Amino acid sequence: MKTMHELNVPVPVKRSLVVRNNKEVSKEQREIALKETEYSMFSFPADMLVLDFLSDSGSTSMTDLQWASLFHGDESYGRNKGYYVLFEAIRDTFERGDDQKRAINLILSGETNVERLMDELYLKPHEGGFVNGGIHQLARPNAFLVPQGRCAEHLLFSTIAPILKERNPDIEYYIPNNGHFDTTEANIAANGMHPVNLFSVNLFEEFPPDQMDVKNPFKGNMDSKELIVFIENKGVDSIPLIYLTITNNTAAGQPVSLNNIKAISEIAQSYEIPLFLDACRFAENSFFIKEFEDNYKNYSILEIIKETFSYVDGFTISFKKDGLANIGGGLFFRDRGFFYNKFSDNGNIGTKLKEKQILTFGNDSYGGLSGRAIMSIAVGLYEVVKEQYLRERIRLVREFALKLSQKGVPVVLPAGGHAVYINVEKFFEGTDMKIDDFGGVGFSIELLKHYGIRACELGPFAFEWDKKTPEQRKGILNLVRFAIPRNVYDSSHINYAVAAITELYENRENIPKVEVSRGANLRLRHFQSGLQPNYSI
Ligand SMILES: *Cc1c(COP(=O)(O)O)cnc(C)c1O
Repeated sequence: MKTMHELNVPVPVKRSLVVRNNKEVSKEQREIALKETEYSMFSFPADMLVLDFLSDSGSTSMTDLQWASLFHGDESYGRNKGYYVLFEAIRDTFERGDDQKRAINLILSGETNVERLMDELYLKPHEGGFVNGGIHQLARPNAFLVPQGRCAEHLLFSTIAPILKERNPDIEYYIPNNGHFDTTEANIAANGMHPVNLFSVNLFEEFPPDQMDVKNPFKGNMDSKELIVFIENKGVDSIPLIYLTITNNTAAGQPVSLNNIKAISEIAQSYEIPLFLDACRFAENSFFIKEFEDNYKNYSILEIIKETFSYVDGFTISFKKDGLANIGGGLFFRDRGFFYNKFSDNGNIGTKLKEKQILTFGNDSYGGLSGRAIMSIAVGLYEVVKEQYLRERIRLVREFALKLSQKGVPVVLPAGGHAVYINVEKFFEGTDMKIDDFGGVGFSIELLKHYGIRACELGPFAFEWDKKTPEQRKGILNLVRFAIPRNVYDSSHINYAVAAITELYENRENIPKVEVSRGANLRLRHFQSGLQPNYSI
C-alpha cells in the first residue's frame, strides 16, 4: 500500500467551515460596472466578481483560532491586553526562533494568577531587541503599531527626512532596495528622497517550469555588486538607509536568499548604513529558504526567520500580508542599534517616531487598530509560520504558474510566494502593442469583462512610465499580477482562471490599447485615475 504522500496528489491541509456564495453576474452587467468605474480595477465592485486576484493584502481567510481570538479583543484606550500579547508574539516570531514563550496562552486560557500575568506579560521588561518592554519601551520607544504597512513607511520616511535635511540641506538622498513596493517608493519620493531599484540580474532568465519543485534561483535578491557601485558613486552620506523587501513583490514576488540578506548586511555594515527589511511576506520568504537554500534544509521556519532578522537594524511590515490578518502594520528598530545611533543625534529618534504615531494614527497602545484586530494579528503570527500551511500556500501558487505555462502563457518563472505574474512584453510579442499602450491594463479589463476575474497591472501604467526619465524607466517591469488571497481559493478556482487567461492569450490581437483618460499626473495614479480602452483600433 502506498503512503499518503506516495499517492501523488496533495494531501489536504485544511477544511472550510464558512462559505460565501458568488453572485451570478452577466457580462453585460460587468460592462456597465466597468464603464461606470472608469475601467479602474480598484473601483470595480468586488461583490460582482467570480475571482479576485487584485491583491493578497488583507484578503486572507482567518483561521478558526483567529476568529476565536476576536472575543479576547480588548478595546481599552490605554494598554489593552492585545498590546502586550502582540508585542510578545513579535518577539516570539522574529527573535526567539524555536524558543517561543507564547505568553499569548495566558490570555487565551483565561489565566487568573495576577502575579504571573504581571511577571510574564504586563510588566516584564525587555531591551536590546526590536520590541522594548516595560519601562524600556517608555524610555526608548522602538516598536510602533500602525494601521498598515504604508503607514509605517510614512512614519519612517517623514520622520527621518527633516532630520537629514537639517543635517545637510544640499545633498540628494537615495534609498536603494532590491525592489521598492509602490507605496514605499511613493513615501520616499513624497519626502524628497529618491527610491532606487537594484534588481537581481537573473530576474528575467529563463526557468524550466518542471524544475519549480526542484530548485530556485532567488531572483528577488538585490544585486550586491550594483549596490557597492551605487554607494561608491553617490557617497555614503547620500544613503540614509538600505532596504530589502522579502519577498520581492515588485520583482514578481521572487524570494530573497539568506546568503543575499547576509551579503547586503555585510555591505551595509562596512559603510555604516542601517539596513531595514520591508518584511511583508517574511514567512513565505523563509519557506523558500528552507526548501531551496543549501544549509537551511534542516532549519525550522522560525530559526530561519530569527537568522534573517539578526542581520538587520529594523523593519517595516504590513500584517495584511503573509495571510497574517486583515489589517495592521508596524515599524520596529533594534534598541540602541545602528539606526537608533545614526538618527538620534538631535534627540531620541524613537520619541520622534512615537510623537508622529500619536499625531497621525493613535496612541502607541493601539496605533489605529481595534483591540480585536490586534488579537487576530497576534494569533496570525503563530499561524503563518507553520510549515504545513506554508507548503500548501506555495504549492497552490506554483500550480497556477505551472498550468499557465503549460498552456503557453508567458509567466515569470519560477512562481513567487504570493502571486503569479504574466510577462506582458512577451504576452504581446508579435502584436503592435507598445509599452505606452498599457497592454497589461487592456488585458486586465478584458479578463474582468468576459470572465469576472480581477487582476492588477504592475507595469508602465502603475509605475507611471510616461512620467519618468529614461534612467528611471529602467526600474520598471511590465507585469500583470495575480495575487492569491490565502486560504480562500483552491485548485477549482485556479483551473477557471487558467482557462480564462488562456482564452485571452489566444485572442490577444483583440485586446484593446488603453489611454489614461483622467488624472494621468496624480500620485499613485493606478489607485485613482480613469482609463479608456480603445475598442475601435
Ligand atoms: C503591501 C505591501 C506594502 C504596504 O503595506 P500596506 O499594508 O498595503 O500598506 C509594503 N511593501 C510590500 C512589499 C507590500 O507588499
